[in-house]
Amino acid sequence: MTAPRTRRVFDGAASVVTLAGKGGPRRGPDMAELAILENGSVVVDADGRIAWVGPARELPATLREGAAIVDCRGKTLMPAFVDAHTHLVWAGARKDELELRLRGADYEEIFAKGGGILASVRQTRATSDDDLFAQSHARITRMRRCGTTTFEIKSGYGLELETELRQLRVARRLAAEGGFRVRTTCLAAHAVPAEARTSPDARAAWVRTIAEDILPAVASAGLADYADVFCDRGAFDLDESRTVLCAARALGLGLRVHANELGPTGGAKLAAELGAASADHLLHVDDDDRRALANAGTVAVLLPGTSLVLGKPFADGRALVEAGVAVAVATDCNPGSCAFENLAMVLALACYGNRLSVAEAICAATHNAAVSLDLSHEVGSLVPGKSADLLVLATADVRDLVYHAGSPFVDEVWQAGERVA
Ligand SMILES: [Zn+2]
Repeated sequence: MTAPRTRRVFDGAASVVTLAGKGGPRRGPDMAELAILENGSVVVDADGRIAWVGPARELPATLREGAAIVDCRGKTLMPAFVDAHTHLVWAGARKDELELRLRGADYEEIFAKGGGILASVRQTRATSDDDLFAQSHARITRMRRCGTTTFEIKSGYGLELETELRQLRVARRLAAEGGFRVRTTCLAAHAVPAEARTSPDARAAWVRTIAEDILPAVASAGLADYADVFCDRGAFDLDESRTVLCAARALGLGLRVHANELGPTGGAKLAAELGAASADHLLHVDDDDRRALANAGTVAVLLPGTSLVLGKPFADGRALVEAGVAVAVATDCNPGSCAFENLAMVLALACYGNRLSVAEAICAATHNAAVSLDLSHEVGSLVPGKSADLLVLATADVRDLVYHAGSPFVDEVWQAGERVA
C-alpha cells in the first residue's frame, strides 16, 4: 500500500464513535463509554495517522486548507473492526458437514468419525502455498470489505511441522503482499492428528513434538506472535495444555487459549494462571473462572457465531462484563464450526446471544479486541496519533449495526489513511 499524498478531512459526521479515554483493557461500565461526538470531524495526515478529532465547527482552518474533504454529513465514523480470533488460512470447505449438522449430527460426533478439523488438515496439507494464499486472500478481502482491518490468524490445519510453518507464512504473506494488518498464532495444539491417535504413547509424543520441535521452529523463524491450545473435551487436557503453553511462554510467545467451549475443563483458569492475553469461547464458566480472568487481566474473547452455527449455548457475556472481565468479540472464522466473515454481524450476535449492550459489543469488536492483540496503541479507537483505520457508516446512529444486523451499513473502509474498500 502507498501512503496517501494529502491530508484528509472526514468532515461533519453526524456521529463520531471515538472510544477516546481509557487506553488499557476496558471493563465493566467503561466498556459502554464510547465517547461519541456529535457533528464531528476527523483529520488524517498524509502519513496515515489521525491528526485531530473534534467538533466540526472547531476544525482549525490551517488543517482544512489544502486537504481532501470526505463529506460525512448524515453518517457515522467509527474505528475499523479488529477480529481477535480467526482461523482464516485453510484450504477447501466443509459444506457437507454443514448439511449433516443441519440434519442433527453433532460436531463432536463428526470429529470422532474423522471429519471436523482433521478433514481440513487433509485438505490443507494437500494444497500448494500459492493456492492456500489465494483461497485465504479471497476470504480476508471479503472480511475487510465488511469493515475489519486487523486480523489475528491461527495455524492448526497442519498438525505437523512443515504445514504449520506454511500456514503461518501464508498469514504473514497476507500482511506483506495483501496489506492486511495481521497478528499470527501457532495453534499446532488444535487437535491430535490421525497418525498420533493410535496409542497413548503416540499422543504423548505429539504433545512433546509441539512443545519441543514445532513451537521452537516457529519462534526462531519469527512466524508467530502467540501460541494457542484447544484445551477442551476431545482435544487437549489441562496437563497437556500446560505443557504446550509453558513451552510457548519460555520462547517469548504470547498466549491465547481455546477454553471452556465444550465443557468446564479448566482452560479459563489455566489461561488466567499463565497470564494469557486471551481466553476464548467460555461457554462453560463459573464465578471462580470469571474472577480469575478479571484478576489476571486476560481478555475474554466471545465467539457467538460459533454458538449459533453449532446450536450450542451462548457464553454469558453479561456475567463476564459484570465480573469486571474485559470482553472482546470475534468471528472465529474457520472451515467447520463457523465460517462467518462479517464481524459487524457477529457483534450484533454478541448482543442477542451473549447479552452485551450495543455499546459494549462495539467496544468488544474494536478497542478490547485490539488490547487482546497488544495493538491498542495503533487501532481500535479514533484518537490523534493512532493509525487512521476507520469506517464510514451509512447511518447517523451506530446502533443500526445491531438493530438492522447484517445490513450493509459499512460504506467505506479506510486503513492507515487509505481507502481499502
Ligand atoms: Zn477458534
